[in-house]
Amino acid sequence: MKKNHTILTDTFGRKHNYLRISLTERCNLRCTYCMPAEGIRLSPKAHIMTYEEIYTIAKEFVDAGVTKIRLTGGEPLIRKDAAQIIEKLASLPIQLTLTTNGVIVDKFIELFKKCGITSLNVSLDSLDAKKNTTITRRSYFEKIYQNIVLLVNEGFIVKVNCVLIKGFNDNEIIDFINVTKDLPVQIRFIEFMPFDGNRWNLDKLVSLKEILEQVHSKFTSENILKLEDAPNDTTKSYQIKGYQGTFAIISSVTNPFCDGCNRIRLTANGQIKNCLFSSKESDLLTPLRAGQSITPVIQKTIQSKQKIRNGMDTLDKFKQSDAHNNRSMITIGG
Ligand code: SAM
Ligand code: SF4
Repeated sequence: MKKNHTILTDTFGRKHNYLRISLTERCNLRCTYCMPAEGIRLSPKAHIMTYEEIYTIAKEFVDAGVTKIRLTGGEPLIRKDAAQIIEKLASLPIQLTLTTNGVIVDKFIELFKKCGITSLNVSLDSLDAKKNTTITRRSYFEKIYQNIVLLVNEGFIVKVNCVLIKGFNDNEIIDFINVTKDLPVQIRFIEFMPFDGNRWNLDKLVSLKEILEQVHSKFTSENILKLEDAPNDTTKSYQIKGYQGTFAIISSVTNPFCDGCNRIRLTANGQIKNCLFSSKESDLLTPLRAGQSITPVIQKTIQSKQKIRNGMDTLDKFKQSDAHNNRSMITIGG
């Protein structure tokens, strides 16, 4: 191993210091772009990592160099022992954060503060209550919006994830940006990505280019400020001059950002994935339960990571449906 290289450094020199842990495959919403209408086949309960196993695996990663952990799901906060897991992971020397649909976030405010959580991502795909019900197949728009405002008022940094789907919510891009006039949140427009059962096709995607065209048709160039992005950022960030909040674009499909990728994903059933778009997984839970070291599995998984999007380096390769025969997003965690 080269000097400064740890087991978390891949063959392209990328250091994986950001672990995303999915706490559960279950959710209180049913977003159409995330899971199929008929639901998903859940892993048997015995195959889901326990609280202790999550901590043991997380600690192994932190000892190897992970500095940031994001809890996701499914909906991470509906897991019965979510509070216990958050408290335990907060004892590690990391930046701890979460991605949540926001429905029950109000019940966790004090815990987040106690655990040093300062920033959260909350998903919201439409500002129209009816459309929100259509996309999430559940009616919680008011609650989610109130909870976003509550988080802001309580001093949290809030990023709002909005998956854009052509003909559905691409007419709300400017409305979302206008929310940032008085509310200091970052709206993050995410290009719709293909996963098992979500009926993806390229025609439904709203690209980075199209989003920026809409922004430029509404605001003058001198009022659209390009903000600086950090090296590992997946976003291209902007602000409308004078607005309190910002907006950003996550263009995994039309402009992948694999060069600076520092992410590794752990699914609720104890598998690690070295790329969001890879259907390959490495089992950590079985060796852990057998009392074996999981270090060799982690190292091998990192070493086998490909340079760009699991080998799908062009849009043409990406479009081939068999090239993204992957789990549903609900069981990966985003
Ligand atoms: N339940 C939580 C939530 O909705 O924020 C966390 C899990 S969710 C799988 C994590 C993120 O993945 C959400 O922001 C969601 O919008 C995003 N996501 C799910 N399916 C997607 C897709 N097909 N394309 C792009 N983003 C997707
Ligand atoms: Fe649940 Fe989040 Fe998937 Fe929606 S995006 S179904 S809230 S896991």
